[in-house]
Amino acid sequence: MSTATKDHAALSDIFNADEARVNWHDDTLWFVRAKRDKAAHTLPEWERLRDTASQIKDNVLSNLHDYLLQFESNAQHNGITVHWAADAAAHNRIVHEILNDNGIRQLIKSKSMLTEECHLNEYLKEQGVDVIDTDLGERIVQLAEEPPSHIVLPCIHKKKEEIGTLFHEHLGTPEGMSDPVFLTAAARLHLREKFMTRRAAITGVNFAVAETGEFVVCTNEGNADMGAHLADVHIACMGIEKIIPQRTHLSVFLRLLARSATGQPITTYSSHFSKPRPGQQMHIILVDNGRTTQLGREDFRNSLKCIRCGACMNTCPVYRRSGGHSYHTAIAGPIGSILAPNLDMKKYADLPFASTLCGSCTNVCPVKINIHEQLYKWRQVIVKEGYASPAKTIAMKTMDFTLSHPAVYQKAGKAGRWFLKHIPFAVNNRMNAWYKQRDMPEPPKQSFREWFKENNTMQKNNSDE
Ligand code: SF4
Repeated sequence: MSTATKDHAALSDIFNADEARVNWHDDTLWFVRAKRDKAAHTLPEWERLRDTASQIKDNVLSNLHDYLLQFESNAQHNGITVHWAADAAAHNRIVHEILNDNGIRQLIKSKSMLTEECHLNEYLKEQGVDVIDTDLGERIVQLAEEPPSHIVLPCIHKKKEEIGTLFHEHLGTPEGMSDPVFLTAAARLHLREKFMTRRAAITGVNFAVAETGEFVVCTNEGNADMGAHLADVHIACMGIEKIIPQRTHLSVFLRLLARSATGQPITTYSSHFSKPRPGQQMHIILVDNGRTTQLGREDFRNSLKCIRCGACMNTCPVYRRSGGHSYHTAIAGPIGSILAPNLDMKKYADLPFASTLCGSCTNVCPVKINIHEQLYKWRQVIVKEGYASPAKTIAMKTMDFTLSHPAVYQKAGKAGRWFLKHIPFAVNNRMNAWYKQRDMPEPPKQSFREWFKENNTMQKNNSDE
């Protein structure tokens, strides 16, 4: 299997080969999760904020059409050019057309998971357009020719020594230098030249306000602002679910977003873009790409409430120990495993199974998405639609037959105990993935049924009487 066709389990094996990295990745993300807890506990109204955010998003999803049109009208009134894209291909084409119209072949881009979802960088490269990512983490993975592994912390899987080597190769920093302060200064110098010379800047959108036609971009590095303010052409790319009705609602979402993402009280830069500066072009592309399909799936529509904070990833025991790349989709982790099957059920049929269903993701989600319940529901849909792997289908059918026939169940139990005791390698071998990471259990001497027959004193007493 090539990396492109491997499923979550196979890709996790690759990540798990480096146990020290897995432990460090796990600890780091748990540290971020703990920071989130502390930040949440400082606000007595935290749960009320989550409820309010969830209700605002409920309202948005029920009136999406109207809010989008209201936003379009107000944005146009402000001088912003609004484009609509039905899918990723249309989104990429629109970006390219805007660049072509302005004779631009080089641009800078701040963090936007939507552009990752649409594979914009790859598309523009094919068209001969050079894109430089300006978020530090994104620039690091771009230099490494890898996708981001986390929506907030794109290079969380990389050690500082690896980043030092990358910078040495690409930016000419001294060999062996891995001091984060030094490397950040080197990245700043490298990016400053791009900010000063590139005429187009792409940003994502965290929130778009229907009543004002403005949009808000949150970053900790100020790179979106720097790019958008200096460029002649600013293109903002936005999933249609990012709309909120009123500016006042930002007070709810901005408080939740930063605390849930990194434990900060507020994101360093929450910049409002409401109109182009004189002489500048400002475009916004409103992208569907499967969102209206998801909206129509009753059990899964709540996933569109997501504000991309990453908290569900930081808390997920499977994500922490399998790494973001094992999800083979732009948005990894629990929320990605709900969103991806909507785009391609066959390709992402493995993802809803990459969960313990412990519910920790649901507990931390600032907009109260019932993530683990949706993962469980996707499993049912995937099995029903015939997309579960053949091995899983056969195993589940066998289990179904065995559990519904008591005589078969008893015989299978007896045979299993005998095998475990006398020829354990028949079960514990390379063919059985279950034992790759597990120890063999001691086979019990008897089944519970046999034990119960021997020890059921009530029955014994009755027969003695
Ligand atoms: S699903 Fe919830 S916790 Fe996960 S990224 Fe989205 S908003 Fe954050």
